[in-house]
Amino acid sequence: MDNQPTALALFSGGLDSILACRVVAEQGVRVKALKFVTPFFDYDLLAREAQYRKKIREKYDIDVEVKDITDLYLQLLHDPPHGFGKHFNPCIDCKILMLTEAKKLMAGYHASFIITGEVVGQRPMSQRKDTLRVIERDSGTDSLLLRPLCAKSQKPTKAELSGIIDREKLPYCSGRGRSQQIKLAAGFGITDYPNPAGGCILTDPNLAKRIKMLYRESARVNREDVRFLLVGRQFRLPHGGWLAIGRSQDENAAVLRLSQPGDLVLSLNDRPGPTALLRHSCHPADISLSAALVVRYGRKIPGGPLVAEVKVTQDQKDALLISPPLPDEQLAGLTLA
Ligand code: SF4
Repeated sequence: MDNQPTALALFSGGLDSILACRVVAEQGVRVKALKFVTPFFDYDLLAREAQYRKKIREKYDIDVEVKDITDLYLQLLHDPPHGFGKHFNPCIDCKILMLTEAKKLMAGYHASFIITGEVVGQRPMSQRKDTLRVIERDSGTDSLLLRPLCAKSQKPTKAELSGIIDREKLPYCSGRGRSQQIKLAAGFGITDYPNPAGGCILTDPNLAKRIKMLYRESARVNREDVRFLLVGRQFRLPHGGWLAIGRSQDENAAVLRLSQPGDLVLSLNDRPGPTALLRHSCHPADISLSAALVVRYGRKIPGGPLVAEVKVTQDQKDALLISPPLPDEQLAGLTLA
């Protein structure tokens, strides 16, 4: 191991976290960026981590690793100590969890401090000055946590006091405006970066409602059911079945990928139509309803019969059903927001 100091960075992929990494790396620190993922944000990166790492390295000269924190996150959502934001987003506890995890990983990376791209006053819930303090206190990262974009408005941290970081050379960003960050980015030659609009599903009014409902119903929430709830049109069937129906080719492929042993996959056999996944029920009435829903959203043949052949596959065994489309009056009460 050389003597170069190392920092672990919480890396969201947004401009602020990119800049935090670059500003600290500029002072001779090796920065290891950690991209935490859950089914609510950036989960797709798990399947293409190598490609993502290459892209971030090439675009921003940042070394990033993807870390899955789903199990801890699903547990947290049952009762986050600091509550929820406008929807089902536990932003303060989300930050605390990520920092707590980063702290646990420090020794493995020989890191002496942690950095984030947080900026005082930028977000209403998690980036108020008093909240930033709560986050460092409850994650146990007090003097270990440097927020390089707004460090000048915070008390000095270990990295500054020990001379690893020259506080005077850090930028000073504050508030919701982005002009300081854009200027700073231009100085690094960075002009192509993601928009600030968050990609967190827990802040999406409709999808967050689905997850909230799941937490109301279940004492134990698992990642498979969460992922199921986030795709396609959703229905709840009378005998306990959950049905997801794809609305596009991409969603059809996603529905298929989510299939678990015991699930039923439904699709039209004689014409184009959606792919559907039935979970938590093999009751014949739920299967018939699912088939009728698949026909309802499938392609209609002008002048042809309304009924269609539906292929039902469970654990690699196929069956065929002939079903009419579900009429409007039977739809009420089945759809999930
Ligand atoms: S928006 Fe989502 S990912 Fe971001 S801090 Fe809040 S809960 Fe966490």
